[in-house]
Order: sequence, then structure tokens, then C-alpha cells
Amino acid sequence: MLPISFEFYPPKTDEQRAQLDRSVQKLKAHAPQFMSVTFGAGGSTLSHTPETVQRLRSEHGVAGVPHLTCVGGNREEIRSLLKLYRALGCDRIVALRGDTPSGMVRSGDLRYANELVELIRAEHGDHFAIEVAAYPETHPQAEDAMADMRNFKRKVDAGADSAITQYFYNTDAYFRFVDDARALGIDIPIIPGIMPISNFTQLRRFSEACGAEIPRWIAQRMRGYGDDADSIREFASDFIAKLCERLIAGGAPGLHFYTLNLSRPSAAILQRLG
Ligand code: FAD
Repeated sequence: MLPISFEFYPPKTDEQRAQLDRSVQKLKAHAPQFMSVTFGAGGSTLSHTPETVQRLRSEHGVAGVPHLTCVGGNREEIRSLLKLYRALGCDRIVALRGDTPSGMVRSGDLRYANELVELIRAEHGDHFAIEVAAYPETHPQAEDAMADMRNFKRKVDAGADSAITQYFYNTDAYFRFVDDARALGIDIPIIPGIMPISNFTQLRRFSEACGAEIPRWIAQRMRGYGDDADSIREFASDFIAKLCERLIAGGAPGLHFYTLNLSRPSAAILQRLG
């Protein structure tokens, strides 16, 4: 069976916690390899991420995996989080640079994700399987696509085991990215990140920030649906399921769903995939 994983953000209120519990309960039925929990760069979720990872592991019995960002943090904070995650039984981690929150001036001890991967490998050997981020449509701050690919290779050379991509709605971008990576000698699995759509306004905002392209034909269809949430969900699940089918047929080694703590949009895609 193709490995799948789900990503959540750490809840901060009781209402959000209840929502997370409901979603985890439903998505568990799809037997994910792991469920990961994002980390607010600069420490804005310093306690919420470990709490949520622990909740996933102890209350839901799933492999909760923390994201860890290095921007704005110092080595000691990173070391104590790694120690905590080991104590919680984690043996996988998603290692990222993160983005400096606006208004934050602290630059931190580590500048790029490859330095974080190096630190984890130097201090924990092979204890953690390390996932890193990859960008089929190029990271928005990269000089150009090949410079970004060389920077991706730095993370792999530092010891990353696997990569999860930023979301995209264009399979050519993914397949070309994988071909270019293989040509540079990068042989780790590159798992497509899948972003279901339930709120198009929110998706447009995210996409502008992270540099993911929404094809014109999709934006036009969405505009036509206006506030009709059922039609948006139906259309989006359908075309994203087809995107996943093409990715799987072309050799994608797994699928990672950005759930935004909702179960229905990811479940609707998985149902269509059978
Ligand atoms: P890096 O790999 O460090 O790259 C950042 C930029 O710097 C790129 O443009 C790259 O080309 C360039 N670069 C890299 N190394 C070097 C170098 N040595 N010298 C010069 N330039 C270099 N953000 C969060 O805040 N919290 C999360 O939990 C989170 N989870 C994510 C999960 C996934 C799967 C993905 C794809 C993204 C996630 N993000 C998260 C967003 C991510 O933090 C941002 O995209 C961030 O801008 C880059 O992080 P990175 O780890 O890819 O950085």
C-alpha cells in the first residue's frame, strides 16, 4: 500500500483541540504512516507542538511526528526540543528553516535547514529519520530553480532521508523536479505534498505567500462557484484525486496531505482514490 501521511497545526484552544481530535479520529482509518505537527517559526508554538505530538501518540495511538524550524531559534532551544521528542518516543522529524515572523528581529544560530539537519545528525546519529522540504515550483526566495535544487542537495548531503514537497497543482512541475534531482545524484524519496481545497480565498492567500501556482483554469472555475462550498469541495476533490492518480502512476513514493486540521477534504480525495 502506498504510504500516506497527514499534517496538522497545533491547536491552541479547547475548541481547536476538539476539532483536531475529531479529524485525527476520522483520518486514522486511512492507516497513515505518520501524522505530523507544524511548528511556528521563531518559537510561537514552542509548547503547543510537543503537546500535540504527545496527544497524537498517547491518546490517539498514531505516530506523531514534530516539525522543527531553526530560524530565530538558538542551538540550546533546538537541543532541548530534540531531547524532549526523543523522550516522547519520536524517531522521525521534519526539519525546516521556517520563515521569520514579521516584526521579529532575532536571527537565530542556524540560517538554513541544511544546518539543522547537520546538527540533528551530529548529535543524534541515526536516531531520527529526517524529512526535509522540497519545492517543485521553486522556493520563492531562491535565486533560480537550479540554485534551489543545489540547496535542496545540501540538505540531502547533510543526512536527510526523505523529502516532502510544497503543494502544487501541476504534475509536470513535480516530475521535472524529480528528474532534475536524480540528475544531480539526489536519490531520496520525494513525496508530493497535497493541498485539498475547501476555502479558495484562504488557498489564494497561502499560495501567494509560498509561491505555489494556482492554474488559471482552476481559479476561474472557483470564481464561478462563488460561495457554493459544496460545489467547490466536489470539484476540488475530483481534480485533486486525478492529480494524485497521475502522481502515483508516474512513480510518486507516497502522498502527504496538508489537512489544515480538517478531515473531510482529505478523506474525500482518498475515497475517490479507493
Ligand atoms: P531551506 O532549505 O533552508 O531553504 C530556504 C531558502 O534558502 C531557499 O530559497 C533555498 O534555496 C535557500 N538556501 C537554502 N540553503 C542555503 C544555503 N546554504 N545558502 C544559501 N541559500 C540557501 N514552516 C514553518 O514555519 N513551520 C512548519 O512546520 C513548516 N512545515 C513545512 C512542511 C513542509 C512539507 C514544507 C514544504 C514547508 C513547511 N514550512 C513550515 C514552510 C518552510 O519553513 C518555508 O518554506 C521556508 O521558507 C523554507 O524552509 P526550508 O526548510 O525549505 O528552508
